[in-house]
Parts: sequence; structure tokens; C-alpha cells
Amino acid sequence: WLLIELDQGAAADLVIELSQTHKAKPDLTNLVFGTVFSDHMLTIEWTNAGGWHKPHIKSLHLACSAMHYAVQLFEGMKAYRGADDKVCLFRPMLNMNRMAKSAERASLLVRTHTGCGTEQTSLLFKGAEYFRKALYIRAWRGGTGDCTMGGNYGASIYAQHEAVDYGCQQVLWLYGDDHQITEVGTMNMITFSVMANEIRDNTFEALATPPLDGIILPGMMRQSILELTRKWGEFKVCERYLTMADLCCALKEGRVKEKFGSGTACVVSPVGCILYQGENLHIPCQEDFPQLASRLMKELTDVQVRWSQTSMQRLF
Ligand code: PMP
Repeated sequence: WLLIELDQGAAADLVIELSQTHKAKPDLTNLVFGTVFSDHMLTIEWTNAGGWHKPHIKSLHLACSAMHYAVQLFEGMKAYRGADDKVCLFRPMLNMNRMAKSAERASLLVRTHTGCGTEQTSLLFKGAEYFRKALYIRAWRGGTGDCTMGGNYGASIYAQHEAVDYGCQQVLWLYGDDHQITEVGTMNMITFSVMANEIRDNTFEALATPPLDGIILPGMMRQSILELTRKWGEFKVCERYLTMADLCCALKEGRVKEKFGSGTACVVSPVGCILYQGENLHIPCQEDFPQLASRLMKELTDVQVRWSQTSMQRLF
């Protein structure tokens, strides 16, 4: 399965080492759960000194808990090749910190310390897709929705397929009886609107996204957008809950200016329409790429490209 994620070069590097000795065929009439495993498995090792090694098909203990219990996690970050041909990464320490937090939640750090988890920690799976409808729940308090654990993503593929069947591109993940808007696909959700009644007789614009309360993934782009817009100081920037009822009301009153998902891959991705309880809610932005989303896209990619040219975040 992992091979699907490899580029052609890496696939061509595949080393197959069939084991010389095969385990004795087990007694099929007397199989004991968790004691019998096959001879081979695909592994890709990572070391500090050598980075990712060649993919190997070789014997590996199938008790590897990444396979059985999804004790595994992934990270996604962007790399830019600079004018000097060197590669640099956008805010990699944010990813490393999030990875350490996810690893702690998955008990991978404990396993590494006790010396039984090197294969597990080196198996990074690229995430899959996501959800829609109150029928499915992406994350819950006390769960792992704020971590980049593979299980979160595998569990959401079914809903993404359903969303496509409904003619949607992504699942908008809601939470709780009041349908709080949490995330969209594998992006954080950001809303730009005119606030109502917060300061009487003085309406103002505000950018809002849900707080990191345990069910939201702490996105690098989310953090970068919050930091950047706070630095601009042009409108209020808040981390607060927004329910579907709030959104419907703001749409009715013509206060919603833009809605977009944010993530490393897309930077920002504007939302034009939300299918909710059989109704299409149009976000009234005129252009494909509305003003704030365009400005954020430009400023953030400028920062990334500038960094890659000034060697500020040079990693290798
Ligand atoms: N939410 C979820 C559920 C995600 O999987 C991701 C991507 N890992 C994001 C948000 C966006 O995070 P980032 O900005 O770090 O790419």
C-alpha cells in the first residue's frame, strides 16, 4: 500500500529481500490469536544520518502495532528549492512540535524510549480524505482529532465519498447538537465577516476560526494566518465558535464576506457554497478568489519563497 505513495524513482529503488528461511506452517487447527505472522513486509526506514532509506520488502514482525491498531502518524509540510538549488522547509519546527505531541498521544514516544518501536516510528503514512453530514463525527473531546494520527483520516474516507456523491468537493465537519463549524476536509475553517452587535453602532470586520479545544487540528497555516492578520491589525482576529445557525443568520443579514479552508497544501481554499440540510448556502463572494483569501495567498507564498531565497530556514 505504501508503494502507491512513492514516486517513480523511489519505487525503482525497491529492494526485495525474500527471507531465506520460512517459518514453519502453523497448525491451522490450533491457531492462537496474535501469535502467527507472515514472512515479509514493506518497510521504509528513516535515520538521522541518512534520512529516508530505500524501500524494502523483507521480513518484519507483523506484530507491528501501526498495522493492527493504527499506532502511527503523519506530517505534511512544504519544501521550496531556493535560487541556490538548496531545499528549505516552511516553519518545520511547528510540524515537529505537532508530531511530537501526536506521537505522545499515540504512545510512540514511550515505545521509542523503551526500545521496541523503531519500525513503528519510521512508518509515516500520508493522510487520506474526510467527511460530511451529522451522521459521522470526525473528532470529539478526549479523542485524537487534534493529532495527525492516521486513524482519524482512514475513518473519514467514507464520508468524503458521500460528499462527492452529493456533488460537494469536501466535507464540512460539524460538532455537537448546535452544529459548530470545525474543519473542512483536512483544512482548518476560517470565516471573514462583519460582526453583529458586538460594539453597538460600530460594526466591524472580523476573522474567526474555532479555538484549539481538542477537536481542531492545530494547523501551521491556521497559526500563520492568525499571526499575520494580527500583525496587520486591520480587523479583529478571534478564535471562537461559530455554529451553522450563526452562519445562516450572518448570511441572511449579508454580513459574511469570505469563508476559506487553510492548510499547507493549498494555503487557502475559498468556499463558494455549503450544502446544509438539503439547502445550498451561497457565500456571496463575487470572485473565485476573494480579496482576503488572495491577499493571504500572496503574502504567505511570498514569505515562503523569500525564505527559500534568503536561507533563513535552511535545513539541508
Ligand atoms: N485540519 C486537518 C484535519 C488536517 O489534517 C490538516 C492538514 N494536516 C489541517 C487542518 C491543516 O494543517 P496544516 O496547516 O498544518 O497543513
